[in-house]
Amino acid sequence: MSTNSTSSKSLSRLENILVIGNGGRENSLAWAIQKNEFVKKVYLIPGNAGSERLNKCERIKIDLNNKNKLVEKLEILKIDLIVIGPELHLANGLADFLRKKNFKVFGPGKDGAKLEYSKSWAKEFMQDANIPTAKFWKVNSLEEAKKIIQLSPVPLVVKADGLASGKGVFIPDSKNECFRAAESVFNGKFGDSGNVVVLEEKIQGPEVSVFALCDGERYVLLPTAQDHKRLNENDEGPNTGGMGAYSPAPLLNEYYLDRVIKEIIEPTINELNKKNINYKGVIYFGLMITKSGPQVIEYNCRFGDPECQTIMPLMDQSFVFLLEKCSMGKLTGEERINTVNKVSGCVIATSSGYPYEYKIGIPIKIGHIDKTDCQIFDSGTSLSTNGELLTNGGRVLSIVCQDKNFDMVFEKAYKNLKEINFDGMYFRNDIGHQVRKNFSMEN
Ligand code: AMP
Repeated sequence: MSTNSTSSKSLSRLENILVIGNGGRENSLAWAIQKNEFVKKVYLIPGNAGSERLNKCERIKIDLNNKNKLVEKLEILKIDLIVIGPELHLANGLADFLRKKNFKVFGPGKDGAKLEYSKSWAKEFMQDANIPTAKFWKVNSLEEAKKIIQLSPVPLVVKADGLASGKGVFIPDSKNECFRAAESVFNGKFGDSGNVVVLEEKIQGPEVSVFALCDGERYVLLPTAQDHKRLNENDEGPNTGGMGAYSPAPLLNEYYLDRVIKEIIEPTINELNKKNINYKGVIYFGLMITKSGPQVIEYNCRFGDPECQTIMPLMDQSFVFLLEKCSMGKLTGEERINTVNKVSGCVIATSSGYPYEYKIGIPIKIGHIDKTDCQIFDSGTSLSTNGELLTNGGRVLSIVCQDKNFDMVFEKAYKNLKEINFDGMYFRNDIGHQVRKNFSMEN
C-alpha cells in the first residue's frame, strides 16, 4: 500500500460539500470528507438518521426532481463540490444537469453511467476494447433467448440489461432454470430494465473489486476490496447488496494488479476517451480471477456498498482533494492515495427477511461500543418522533473496524456487534474468513 503524498491543498475553495444519497456508502463518504480541516460543512440529500451523528454533517430535505429549487438551495449554501452516490441519479443525468449549472461534480454523466445501467452496452464496450470478460449474447426476445440457451452445452448466466438493484442476475444450474430466469425477466419482473437480456458464459474464480477515481483522462486507484454478496455463511444463499467486506484484498497481489491495470483499467479509460465520454467519477470494476486471468464481471459507475464503508477509514484527510481534482479534470496521474497503515473490515447487520421482505421501524439498541478505529455507518435507519433510532431498510448498520491485521479487525467488529441489538437482527459470522488466520466457525 502506498504512503506517498497526494497534494495537501485544494485547487479551489472546498468548504461546503454536498453528498447525494441515503445509504451507508454516503455516510462513509461524508465522514471521510469531513475529516479534512478545510471542510466546514458536509450536507447530505437526503442522508439518513446516521448522518445526524456525523461531525460537521447536516441533512437537507429537498426534492431532487425539483431542479429549480435544488439549484437555488445549492447556491444559497455555496456548495463547492457535489458527490453523487446512487447509480439511479447518475443514470438519470443528474451530474450532467448540475455541471451545466456550473457546479463541480464527482460522478459520471449519463453517457458514462451507461457502463452500469446497460449491461449489454458494457459488454459491447469491453468487446470493442478487447477487455477480458465472459462470452455473451444480447437478446431482445424470449424466443431468441430460448434458442441460445437450448444450443449451449452448459447453463448460461441470465442478466436483465438495466438497473435492477443487484437482483437482475441469475446463475442457473440447469437449462430449465435458465429458461425460467429468462421468462421472468422478459415477463416484466424488472420493468423496462428487462426489455433486453444478456446471456453469459459462466466463469469461475474468486471475486475482487477495484475502484478507479477518474478525471476524464487520468485515474488513481483506491485500495482493493473483496465483498461477500451471499446472505449466508460459507457464501451460500441468495445474492444480496453485500453482507460485509474487507480491504485491501490480498488476492490481488502485485502480479494480478499489474495485469488488471494493463488488461482492464487502462483499456477501459482509453475506450471511454475513444467514445468521447468524459468520465469524472469512480469506476467500480467487479472482477473475477479466473484460471486464464482477471476478467470483468461488471462495471458500476459508483462506489460499491459495503466496500465504500470499508475503504473510507483507510483514507487520510486529503481524500476530498482527489474528488475535487477528478471533478475538475485535474489529476496529474502521479497521485498516490494516502492510506493509514492498517487493514479494514465491515460487517453488515440486516433486518430479518432481507433480501426479500422485511419490516421497518424496529427500535435499535446500541450499548457500549469500542470506538477506537471503529465506525458505525448507518445503512438504513430513521429516527422516531421522540428521537429513537429505528430500522429503515434491509441493510441497517455497517460495523467497520481497522487494525494491524484482519483477525484483530474482525475480533473488534464482532465484539461491537454484541452491543447492538434489534428484533430480527441478522449478520454473518464469517466475514473475511479468507483473510482471518484464526478463523474457524467454532470460534
Ligand atoms: P453482477 O450484478 O453482474 O455483478 O452479478 C452478480 C454476481 O453474479 C457476481 O458478483 C458474480 O458472483 C455472479 N456472476 C455474474 N456474471 C457471472 C458470470 N458470467 N459467471 C459467473 N458468475 C457470474
